[in-house]
Amino acid sequence: MTDVGTTKRKSMTPGRRLRIFENHKGVCVTCGLPIKVGEPWFVEHIRALELGGEDVDANCGPAHQISCKAVKDADDHHRASKAKRVKQRHIGITAPKQKIASRGFPQSTKPKNERAQLPPRQLYREEQV
Ligand SMILES: [Zn+2]
Repeated sequence: MTDVGTTKRKSMTPGRRLRIFENHKGVCVTCGLPIKVGEPWFVEHIRALELGGEDVDANCGPAHQISCKAVKDADDHHRASKAKRVKQRHIGITAPKQKIASRGFPQSTKPKNERAQLPPRQLYREEQV
């Protein structure tokens, strides 16, 4: 079974950043739109490290810093958490059963006909004229 672990990150040098940007011709790997001059961008791992993606240039591409980062990060964390849960279930790790903290309400001692009763529920409203 392959482990879904987080891959160690290499350092990002300016040269590597440029190479990655040019490999993708400046097109964002998340939304597919070109990154305009002066627009902030960062190096994105196409397959996230926490999903077993490798920290190699082939798995890296530029992405918009503002509009695209949060979207993909949230999606990746969601997928990584799910992968972890699926794996845990597969190898038989389950969450401990939760015990009910309180013992609940005591049984009423009043006879049934003395208990508070709600008025009969009206199912249909009278037609307004
Ligand atoms: Zn984008």
